[in-house]
Amino acid sequence: MTAIPAGGPAWCRLVRADNPGPMTLDGTNTYVLSTANGNVVVDPGPMIEEHLEAVAALGPVALVLLTHGHPDHVEGRGRFHEMTGAPTLARDPALCIDGDPLSVDGGTVDVPGLAVRVLHTPGHSADSVCFDVSDGTTRAVLTGDTILGRGTTIVAYPDGRLGPYLESLRRLRSLDGVPVLPGHGPVLPDAAAAAAEYLAHREERLDQVRAALDAGARTPMEVVEIVYADVDRSVWPAAEATVRAQLDYLGVPVQ
Ligand SMILES: [Zn+2]
Repeated sequence: MTAIPAGGPAWCRLVRADNPGPMTLDGTNTYVLSTANGNVVVDPGPMIEEHLEAVAALGPVALVLLTHGHPDHVEGRGRFHEMTGAPTLARDPALCIDGDPLSVDGGTVDVPGLAVRVLHTPGHSADSVCFDVSDGTTRAVLTGDTILGRGTTIVAYPDGRLGPYLESLRRLRSLDGVPVLPGHGPVLPDAAAAAAEYLAHREERLDQVRAALDAGARTPMEVVEIVYADVDRSVWPAAEATVRAQLDYLGVPVQ
């Protein structure tokens, strides 16, 4: 599937990878941003040859940007670099190819025709960044897994941490009316509203974790069984990682 995503800016096309699952929703979203000097590809995605070919077929690639290092977003980056020769930039130096790591906050990426501002938004993973992009007329923020198009994301403890994640969401709350191009799922109309919802959800879960501890839960899985009773068991291992992050945040020794 290749199209301007519904609700997204005209300078952006979406190619969705065929890797659907409980954690990836309909599959990983690869975004192709059109510029005067070629395409900027955000998250080439998993190592699926047909997917990478479909992205490369959209035109010459000037630059590849990575939102974070989870395999469903970056696994195909080496092969994609072979196909396109485009430098690949990420927060984590180990993921970069032919380029320097993205600088922290306030950093910009030099892309003729598009202003790309890098927001360091750790929490889902330590290396997560968002890209606040504008062509001077329309703006959108590419959030990777920091904000998803549907449901909520995980905090992949111990690499991901809840304290920094809440901080990241508070900062994204300032992007009033800016559409979200998430790493999975559909476009959301307003980053500020989405961040506020995520913050409210996290507070609610923390209250539930405190209540589960008061009720005698001792291990992360015992907390999951109480707090995440409403979610599908296939995502319980991921929920357990998030519970470890919540216990760490609350200062409870994690077993
Ligand atoms: Zn991820």
